[in-house]
Amino acid sequence: MDFSLPAEDDPRRLEVREWLASHPDRSYRDLYERGYAVPHWPRPWGLDAGPEQQIIVDDELARAGVRAPHHRNPVPINNCGQSLLRFGTPEQQQRFLPPALACEEIWCMLFSEPSAGSDVGALRTTAVRQGDHYVIRGQKMWTSLADKAEIGVLVARTDPSVPKHAGLSQFLVDMKSPGITIRPIIDMTGEASEYNEVFFDNVIVPAERLLGQEGDGWKICMQQLQTERVALSRPGVIWGSGPSARELLEGLMASGRLADPALRDEAARLYIEGEILRLLAFRSLSDRMNARTAGPEGAVRKMVAAPHGQRVLDLAKRSQGVAGMVKDRRVLPVSKAERGPYSNWDHAYWWSPAVTLGVGTQEILKNVVAERILGLPRDKDPTRHTPWAQLAPGAVPAPAAEGGRA
Ligand SMILES: Cc1cc2nc3c(=O)[nH]c(=O)nc-3n(C[C@H](O)[C@H](O)[C@H](O)COP(=O)(O)OP(=O)(O)OC[C@H]3O[C@@H](n4cnc5c(N)ncnc54)[C@H](O)[C@@H]3O)c2cc1C
Repeated sequence: MDFSLPAEDDPRRLEVREWLASHPDRSYRDLYERGYAVPHWPRPWGLDAGPEQQIIVDDELARAGVRAPHHRNPVPINNCGQSLLRFGTPEQQQRFLPPALACEEIWCMLFSEPSAGSDVGALRTTAVRQGDHYVIRGQKMWTSLADKAEIGVLVARTDPSVPKHAGLSQFLVDMKSPGITIRPIIDMTGEASEYNEVFFDNVIVPAERLLGQEGDGWKICMQQLQTERVALSRPGVIWGSGPSARELLEGLMASGRLADPALRDEAARLYIEGEILRLLAFRSLSDRMNARTAGPEGAVRKMVAAPHGQRVLDLAKRSQGVAGMVKDRRVLPVSKAERGPYSNWDHAYWWSPAVTLGVGTQEILKNVVAERILGLPRDKDPTRHTPWAQLAPGAVPAPAAEGGRA
């Protein structure tokens, strides 16, 4: 590692702090217009900020108790928005980015399907071109925020005659379009707040909503998923809703529970693991600050951080005995002051199994590490080079009649 974090009296830090203090009624649009929604993006969207300045903005927003825009609208800010900078037309950038970065239009990511999760290339949703629009048919699964979103980033098959990854395209879909049905899924927390099934029944999407060229879909997906893995692998925290190992240790100390030697041993192991993850995070930060290209370490960090976060929550709940069995429905944002030094983290506990699945299961991440870091032979996919129409003849739509619906 080779960097130093910006000092407390760094003038760039003071500037952000003063602006936040002098704008107590700021909206997400104000934050965006000031460049604080995506400081690392080029102007006019962000500030062209290097990693140091980005850390400053993140720190100061947190210090001021501001919910950062990437928590409110993660899909455009963490994953898909930057694809518009690279693949989108100027019209698409102007239409979609300002309301997304100002959190006025929430986005969702329509990739996974019932039989295409780890293998997104096997998706069956089709987009058939008809004159000036596409007709979408199919089903998506596990779509976070679909029930709240105005815009969906959809991956669909536009060309069944080529191998599966080559025939995919991405679209920016209006989620209120006729023909879209959204069904929330109830998960183990007992709530239906996280993800949804989404059905497309002959949904019309204008041709100017295609992102990039037909067939670019897979290339764009890969860039988006890699960014999310890095964003999701903050040490020991379950997608923003659990304690870090350090917070847990502090809570256990404050409540006198560390007197139990078995519990103390477990908490110490988790604390050490949390520190290793923190150092791994600094290592990638150091790479970015020294302009070294980010490698596949996002996969390593997520692979270690997700089960670590689950273990932290398991101990947080278990260490409270009977009190740990009480349902505690509070979800973040719950300030530290509100929840006290210690809570039973019930909601996060029941939700935590999801984190070793979403954005790449543990097995898929191990494949990435094996192939791209350890140089082991590639996972065999005998279907990789076969035209999709031969692999799944039932999933190929009949050609559209001229002038009619697909
Ligand atoms: C909280 C959460 C939020 C999500 N949000 C979204 C979203 O917003 N949009 C979206 O599109 N999707 C979303 N997903 C879906 C997520 O991307 C998929 O769950 C994930 O890709 C795994 O796919 P699957 O569930 O179909 O499992 P499968 O791919 O069917 O995998 C089943 C099992 O087989 C294993 N396996 C599969 N292939 C291999 C292989 N090649 N080698 C070794 N083992 C393998 C897997 O590791 C797993 O254990 C979300 C999921 C979760 C949990």
